[in-house]
Amino acid sequence: MSFANVHQAAMKQQSRKGRCLHFSDGLQCNEIISAHSIQKRGQLGLIAESGHVYRLNADLSTLKETEGKPLPKKIGVNRASTFPGMCKQHDNKLFSPIDDHPLAIDHHQVALYAYRSICREYFVKENASISLTEMLGHPGLTSEQSQWLTGAAYGQSLGFERLKRHKLIYDGCLAANDFTGLKFIVFGSTSRCSLQASGLIFPDFDFQGRQLQDLGPETRDLDLLVFFTAPTEYGWAFILAWHESSDLSCQRFINSLAKSGRDGGKIEDMLLRFSLACCENHAIRISWWDSLLTVAKNQAIDFMAVMADPTLGVRADYLATGCEGLADWSFDNVRDVR
Ligand SMILES: [Zn+2]
Repeated sequence: MSFANVHQAAMKQQSRKGRCLHFSDGLQCNEIISAHSIQKRGQLGLIAESGHVYRLNADLSTLKETEGKPLPKKIGVNRASTFPGMCKQHDNKLFSPIDDHPLAIDHHQVALYAYRSICREYFVKENASISLTEMLGHPGLTSEQSQWLTGAAYGQSLGFERLKRHKLIYDGCLAANDFTGLKFIVFGSTSRCSLQASGLIFPDFDFQGRQLQDLGPETRDLDLLVFFTAPTEYGWAFILAWHESSDLSCQRFINSLAKSGRDGGKIEDMLLRFSLACCENHAIRISWWDSLLTVAKNQAIDFMAVMADPTLGVRADYLATGCEGLADWSFDNVRDVR
């Protein structure tokens, strides 16, 4: 087996090791379940066609086929966006306010969506960090492979430690049932929805290409922005949310989004660009993707490749332009809860 295959197999094996990431995990945890990070009924159900959606695929065989670019691949809604990161009892109880009710302007619900997104990323990053570190002990590594692994393992464990700090902040809010520190913007829509996303980012550059924070290893604490789509009473919404401890970068990020809007940018284009570039956890409506022209598909894939390949490097202005006119949805209202 080649080095790349061994690496992928190790990652896969680690990703099957379920555990409960609930803030009060312990004795009361029961059976670990495969939880949807994008809700099956409320979110995937809204865009599924014949029980399927597209999701981004960046496995080795796809990357080989496309010379390093990820591709959307059909997947059944039962399998889309799942991860074994919580026990059944905790998942059912904790997330009932969002799994059983549409999103309202409600701090508790926003905190839960954000928490689910954080738990998924925590699970993925911890897995990557563990499997890369384990690979370092693999016999027969060339010095080049060892060097690459050392760098990659360091990068993943740094990302994991940075995220851990934020999970603790949300753990604290949920345990205390105090959501007053949550801030968010809700873009509401009554039109058709073709994309669902649940992700997070340490905002690096804004929509004008200005740096928000330096993601280099010397910066200890980074601000975190969470984003997700959610069903609402009248349709669906795209939400940007953060805790007040991340105010500095997140407020500037939102102000920059508003400035692009005043300068003539369409919010639908900006949020599509942002979702594709900053989140690998999407579900895409099949007929929407298939209806895009090849040139538009390639443009969207280039944005998704930013996320899939960290070696590409990020251009300061990656959020400034691109993906104009591809979204077939529109937002009718904005609620600013800052
Ligand atoms: Zn549990």
